[in-house]
Amino acid sequence: MTPLEVLKTYWGYDSFRPMQEEIVREALEGRDVLAILPTGGGKSVCFQVPALLKKGIALVVTPLIALMKDQVQNLQQRGIRAMAIHAGMSRHEVDLALNNAAYGDYKFLYLSPERLQTKLFQSYLPVLNVSYLVVDEAHCISQWGYDFRPNYLEIGQLRDQIDAPVIALTATATPLVSRDIMDRLRFKEPNLLRSGFERPNLSYVVRKAQDKLGQLRSVCDGVPGSGIVYVRSRNRAQEMAEALKAAGISASFYHAGLGAETRALRQAQWKSGETRVMVCTNAFGMGIDKPDVRFVVHADLPDSPEAYFQEAGRAGRDGLPSYAVLLWNGTDISRLKQLEEVSFPSLEYIEDIYHKVHVFFEIPYDSGMGRMLKFDLAAFCQHFRLQRAPAWYAIQYLEREGHWVLAEDMDIQTRIQIAVSRQQLYQVELPDPAMPAVLEALMRMYTGIFSFAQPIDEDAVAHRCGVGIPQLRQLLYGLSVNHVIRYIPADHATVLYLQHDRLRPGNVQLSPQRYQLLRSTYGERVQTMMEYVQEEDECRSQFLLRYFGQEQSQPCGHCDLCRSGAARPKDLASRLKDWIEARHGTYTLPELRSAFGTADDTWLPILRELIDSKEVPPYV
Ligand code: ADP
Ligand code: MG
Repeated sequence: MTPLEVLKTYWGYDSFRPMQEEIVREALEGRDVLAILPTGGGKSVCFQVPALLKKGIALVVTPLIALMKDQVQNLQQRGIRAMAIHAGMSRHEVDLALNNAAYGDYKFLYLSPERLQTKLFQSYLPVLNVSYLVVDEAHCISQWGYDFRPNYLEIGQLRDQIDAPVIALTATATPLVSRDIMDRLRFKEPNLLRSGFERPNLSYVVRKAQDKLGQLRSVCDGVPGSGIVYVRSRNRAQEMAEALKAAGISASFYHAGLGAETRALRQAQWKSGETRVMVCTNAFGMGIDKPDVRFVVHADLPDSPEAYFQEAGRAGRDGLPSYAVLLWNGTDISRLKQLEEVSFPSLEYIEDIYHKVHVFFEIPYDSGMGRMLKFDLAAFCQHFRLQRAPAWYAIQYLEREGHWVLAEDMDIQTRIQIAVSRQQLYQVELPDPAMPAVLEALMRMYTGIFSFAQPIDEDAVAHRCGVGIPQLRQLLYGLSVNHVIRYIPADHATVLYLQHDRLRPGNVQLSPQRYQLLRSTYGERVQTMMEYVQEEDECRSQFLLRYFGQEQSQPCGHCDLCRSGAARPKDLASRLKDWIEARHGTYTLPELRSAFGTADDTWLPILRELIDSKEVPPYV
């Protein structure tokens, strides 16, 4: 089959989108490739098509459990064999999955990055016939990126063990980040393919507004059709939605604190058009695929251009005219300035939170690896009299450092621990004759079950004991009433999965250099957002495109600055300066040529002047 035939057969699409075909071809020819396509641009197809055409199994590293499950389901629905290994699976389940990956004719194995260095995974590596090493959300590997995850660094080491080309994909790579991704993934040669990030049907509008609600209402009144309103907090989502409703606008709100059913329902109502406007935190949007969103309003200033561009880009996927409106005022600016302090509590504080979490769950030193902790931030903060915001940021920081995986809004499997010793087990009197069979099955299927609560597969246990699920639950309940087992029924909550045993004080080893770097790149992104809203004479679209490394674009003609006639093409000297600054001062002539064109006589004399007057460093 040709790539196009694969696309038609499995997806039913008639043609590739811009750049997809080129990326597929690079991969099929065995070259490492970094693909930069906007969110919704169709990155998955770029690695799924070549993987289907090649023998073996593609390893797909991706950070979010929810996205992983989505993709696996999606592939399975198309009749493609795919599976996932993620936090929250028992050792037994992981073993089974890896066995299938090695011998079961699967085409895709999705993995979260912290799995890569586990002994179990490593032991299977030699027998896996890997077609491609796919790195989705590849910006996570770069410390310059906006979502750096140290676990991603371990992907580079896999290259010594796996002889397969890399396909790396991201929507949000600045020039510095793309270069870093290719280095870290040890590309044989740099090979970057990107599609244009222009959104010709999207009009960017920025409004300085004291009365944000008033502005928001006039957008809702002035632009017919569905919309999304992003706000910075859960409370604000609720307040704003109620204010809109009071003004007669059909609205609802959405954030991660709502139950799964409520969220699914509200999302469906919004998607079908029954609810017109969704007011939400950034928890809304992942995986939503609604083509006819006519406006996205940011009622609070976001803290990074990456997040802003992705969220605003949810408007107008169908290609019809749409609006991306950003409302801000002085309060946003001072809040953002403080946010750097709040989002980066001191390293001492972060380490203290590390220990407090373990104390809270009564986990002794040198143990805890693999534990799943149902985490209630409010209870935790109350117990230690902590403020919530910094505690939460510290917990997120520790996640990015690889100490645990944080999963908000998880469906938790039933978990069981046998609460008595093996010897005692044979002495207790059990009220129901079916109970010994259940215990027997649990012991055989889950080896660690005497030490801590194991997630169990109710179907499999019921099957093994020859009972139905309801009866199994009765029996489990009975066993727990008799104190033979600890029984934690299925639930829905925020969960921390511990990635290693509890470290002793002084051994947590948070790197001050890394902290400084993360903090200063965070500061730079905030700074860029402030410049974006205060910009007076560059086309909004061009501003954003330049940030993502796209130099040669045209003014869009319909953002607020283009419309008012204020937008002027930026002069070459300041574009050169910004471009060099975005690369932190290291750059080469070939890079310049690919950004500014090969007609050297236009920009080279200007660059020489800048170098001579020491306004920019020379190229290398
Ligand atoms: P990304 O990962 O870049 O955000 P996805 O891979 O999730 O985007 O794709 C977004 C949507 O576009 C999906 O519904 C996908 O099936 C669809 N899509 C991808 N490629 C094509 C194509 N060539 N033609 C039509 N639809 C496509
Ligand atoms: Mg994707």
